[in-house]
Amino acid sequence: MESALTARDRVGVQDFVLLENFTSEAAFIENLRKRFKENLIYTYIGSVLVSVNPYKDLEIYTKNHMERYRGVNFYEVSPHIYAVADNSYRSMRTERKDQCILISGESGAGKTEASKKILQYYAFTCPASEQVQTIKDRLLQSNPVLEAFGNAKTLRNDNSSRFGKYMDIQFDFKGAPVGGHIINYLLEKSRVVHQNHGERNFHIFYQLIEGGEEDLLRALGLERNPQQYQYLVKGNCPKVSSINDRSDWKMVRKALTVIGFNEDEVEELLNIIASVLHLGNVQYGGEEGNVCITSDTQIKYLARLLGVNGAVLTEALTHKKIIAKGEELMSPLNLEQASSARDALSKAVYGRTFTWLVNKINASLTYTDDSHKNYSVIGLLDIYGFEVFQHNSFEQFCINYCNEKLQQLFIELTLKSEQEEYEAEGITWEPEKFKGIISILDEECLRPGDASDLTFLEKLEDTVGGHAHFVTHKLADAKTRKVMGRDEFRLLHYAGEVNYNVNGFLDKNNDLLFRNLKEVMCMSENKILNQCFDREELSDKKRPETAATQFKASLAKLMEILMSKEPSYIRCIKPNDSKQAGRFDEVLIRHQVKYLGLMENLRVRRAGFAYRRRYEVFLQRYKSLCPDTWPNWQGKLADGVATLVKHLGYKPEEYKLGRSKIFIRFPKTLFATEEALETRK
Ligand code: ADP
Ligand code: MG
Repeated sequence: MESALTARDRVGVQDFVLLENFTSEAAFIENLRKRFKENLIYTYIGSVLVSVNPYKDLEIYTKNHMERYRGVNFYEVSPHIYAVADNSYRSMRTERKDQCILISGESGAGKTEASKKILQYYAFTCPASEQVQTIKDRLLQSNPVLEAFGNAKTLRNDNSSRFGKYMDIQFDFKGAPVGGHIINYLLEKSRVVHQNHGERNFHIFYQLIEGGEEDLLRALGLERNPQQYQYLVKGNCPKVSSINDRSDWKMVRKALTVIGFNEDEVEELLNIIASVLHLGNVQYGGEEGNVCITSDTQIKYLARLLGVNGAVLTEALTHKKIIAKGEELMSPLNLEQASSARDALSKAVYGRTFTWLVNKINASLTYTDDSHKNYSVIGLLDIYGFEVFQHNSFEQFCINYCNEKLQQLFIELTLKSEQEEYEAEGITWEPEKFKGIISILDEECLRPGDASDLTFLEKLEDTVGGHAHFVTHKLADAKTRKVMGRDEFRLLHYAGEVNYNVNGFLDKNNDLLFRNLKEVMCMSENKILNQCFDREELSDKKRPETAATQFKASLAKLMEILMSKEPSYIRCIKPNDSKQAGRFDEVLIRHQVKYLGLMENLRVRRAGFAYRRRYEVFLQRYKSLCPDTWPNWQGKLADGVATLVKHLGYKPEEYKLGRSKIFIRFPKTLFATEEALETRK
């Protein structure tokens, strides 16, 4: 028989809190490695679940497994995502408090798979009536649809989500899922018109071309060859071995039907997808300052698919409307301007259609029965993790801003009053730096005249230049200067330093579509586009909000939503960069342990479990440290705890005794007590 000790040696501990040397990162990673080798991909830090992507199908998601975790206490079974799902579900039901599950990790770490597994768990284990079954089906089927339109093959992940997603699942008083609601964040629209080498556009384009029926393709004017389309050739990667576009197409078509799309809506949706491909093939020629479109095939298809007048569209793709002396004039674009106007239209059309799609799914997930108004909620957050690339731009800035907010939320929810101590532990948190940067970016976007990415950088130097967490080439010391470009600024995030290149910041933040292109789209007879491009936008004298400001506002709302709920955390880790099973790349993993703040997590949990501790639990754990409370305290619990902490030498300012709990002020007090326990053992 295997002794307990050797089992521990072999498979590690299932909760990092039990690690003997809990401050050692090496011990932490060693524990992960042991478990990963044994296919034990889940480990807790208290109630936080750490998950390492196995890159292979493990037999741990069967119906039997779901049954095993149903209604069972966290610590009675081995760590599993189902335990987290079940725990949230039970808390929601027994404590009547809304829950949320926050899933984080870098691209390819397994966030989206995790959120799907949670959804499947609820779909299988929760009670259902016939009506509820419809909602369950729709909840499950919303995934393939959103993934088709919002996911793409990247270098990091063959099925990378290019948008953030927060999904509420609504449960009635019987605990049955009766509805849902999705909020999407910051779709990476630039992918529609450009892909880096080895990457693809959004899946739906390839699915349609590879899987679409002959008649359909003919009607859309498409050829069954992705290489024909400018928007699909940039990455030079039409086929991916892990992806079957043709069978995915069938799945997506079926899912659209389950969600409640009728034939007309599907047709209009596909018209839009096809029109984006045609737009990409619109080529410009002619003399500089007087561009024209060189072939009218695309325009012919575009006019029909978009439901607009071809001549008006052509003019809008080659001219810009300007107002001079109170008169409207059409001024011709040059080649570069025309191409970027075309691409802006493609991005706007695709981006707005995506939002429309989310709204449509939400409508189908709205449970109309009035008796269910009083539902409880479990929210799932699957959002991009902290990103550091060789070259970081506006997108990374927004994504990392989001991650700082989430980190702040984590601190506020777990530590509230202990924030000071948290900072004393060396974990810094300075959200203000972002506010400053975003408002200066907006200022530059609004300023007429010579505003450019570089003037934005200069303004940053003038205003936030003094901030300890901000530096530029000009402001940096000699050492930092070596690793910074002149067109970069560097931020010190909680997870590390990132250099951001300012090129493109203004354009991306402005996200402008020429007015005459907007006008054309407002005239569209395509019902979906008609909802996407509202005439009111044209009469609106106010400038639309910039991308960063919109994102900031939507994040603020997200924080509010999450704040009102009881959180659980799933931290996903990617074991290697080659999508391979069984490879544990220590350098890569150490990075993630750092970015995810897992060591801090562990410290907080080690402390946090007893920051506020019920008397009986506190006494039970530490009674062996004091002769008066060992082996049993006979009197009142509060007196027992008072006796115990006095014996341990707690100073009055270090703790407070409440009605049923002891409150400990400093982590170090608790660490010391824990150490005492360890050495006694
Ligand atoms: P993320 O959303 O974090 O970018 P995904 O959830 O899309 O990452 O996971 C990337 C890929 O890793 C998946 O397509 C799948 O092949 C694999 N994967 C992730 N989680 C698991 C898991 N629990 N079991 C098996 N394979 C997984
Ligand atoms: Mg994902």
